[in-house]
Amino acid sequence: MKYRPLGNTGLEISVLSYGASPLGGVFGQINQDDGIRTVHTALDHGINFIDVSPYYGDTKAETVLGQALAGVDRDRYYLATKVGQYGQEEFDFSAERVTRSLDESCARLGVDYIDLLQCHDIEFAEPDQIVTETLPALVKLRDAGRIGHIGITGLPLKVFANVLDQVGPGIVETVLSFCRYELNDTALADWLPYFESKQLGVINASPTGMGLLTPRGVPDWHPATPTMIATAKQAVDFCAKEGVDIVKLAVQFCVAHPGMTTTLVGTSRPENIEANIRYAEEPVDEAIMARVQEILAPIHNHNFTRGLPQNRDELIPA
Ligand code: NAD
Repeated sequence: MKYRPLGNTGLEISVLSYGASPLGGVFGQINQDDGIRTVHTALDHGINFIDVSPYYGDTKAETVLGQALAGVDRDRYYLATKVGQYGQEEFDFSAERVTRSLDESCARLGVDYIDLLQCHDIEFAEPDQIVTETLPALVKLRDAGRIGHIGITGLPLKVFANVLDQVGPGIVETVLSFCRYELNDTALADWLPYFESKQLGVINASPTGMGLLTPRGVPDWHPATPTMIATAKQAVDFCAKEGVDIVKLAVQFCVAHPGMTTTLVGTSRPENIEANIRYAEEPVDEAIMARVQEILAPIHNHNFTRGLPQNRDELIPA
C-alpha cells in the first residue's frame, strides 16, 4: 500500500481507502459478520483511512463500523465521518445540530475523537449558512480537540468554490467528491490546481461510480441516465470477454492519479476489499485501459448533478 499526505493535515493516508456506506445496506442487504471482516481485512492490508456518515443506512453504517472497530487500536486508522445530512431529503447544517451530531457519531462508532469531520453534501445547503454557521461550529470543535480536521463534501464541483472562496486559509482542510474522477469522468482532475492553491487534501470517492462500473451494475436508486448505464454495460461486457475485472481497471485508474490523495471504495465483502487492494498494486494493462476509455468516451464527463440551483454543475445530459 502506498500513502500520500492529506493536504496540510499531517495525516499520511493510504491511496486506496475504505468507504463504509455499504455497511449500512446502501447497496443491498449485507451479512454483518462479513461487513465486520471487511473492515478488518482493509486494515490488515494497509488501509488506514475509513469514511462513513450518520446518513448511510440511517445510522446503521456507523453502528456496524463501531462494532468492527471495537478492540482495534485507535492508532491503526484515521476515521472520517460527516454532519448535516440525516435522510435523503433531511439536511440540517445548524451549529446546534452538527455539534450534537458529533456526539451521536462518536457514541455509535465507540470513539471519542474523529480525525476528519466533513459537512455532508453541501450542494443541499445555502453556502452562506455553511460559511457563517456550520464551519465556525466545526472550528470550535477542532479548537476543543474533539476533531482533528474539517472537510466539505459534494457532488457538483462548483459548490466547493462557493464556500472556499469565502473562508480564510486553514478553515477547510479537505474536499471529497464522488463519481467525478473515474473511468467515465475526469472533471475532478480539472479542479486540482484550485484545490492545491488552497492546500487541500482531495478525497475521490466511488471509483466504480457507485456500482456503474461493476458486473452487478447499479442499484435502483442510482441517478445515472439510461444512456450512461447502457454505455457502462458495454465496457463491463468488453472486460468480461477479455477476462479482466472492470473493478480492477476502475481502481487502478483512480489510484494512479497523484493529485487524488486517496480513493474511497465501498464494499461489505472481505474478498472484494482484498481484491481491490491487490488491484491497486498490480501493473496496469494500458491497452485494455485505453480500449475501455474509448468505449466510455460517448458519456465522458456527462454525469448527473443535484442540489440547490446555485450549487449545480452545468452538465451535458447523457
Ligand atoms: P463505489 O464506487 O466504491 O462502489 C461500491 C459498489 O461497488 C458496491 O456495490 C460494491 O459491492 C461494489 N464493489 C466494490 N468492490 C468490488 C469488487 N472488487 N468486485 C465487485 N464489486 C465491487 O461507491 P461507494 O461505495 O458509493 O463509494 C465509496 C465510499 O465513498 C462510500 O462508501 C462513502 O464512504 C464515500 N462516498 C461519500 C460520498 C459523500 O460524502 N457525498 C458520496 C459517495 C461515496
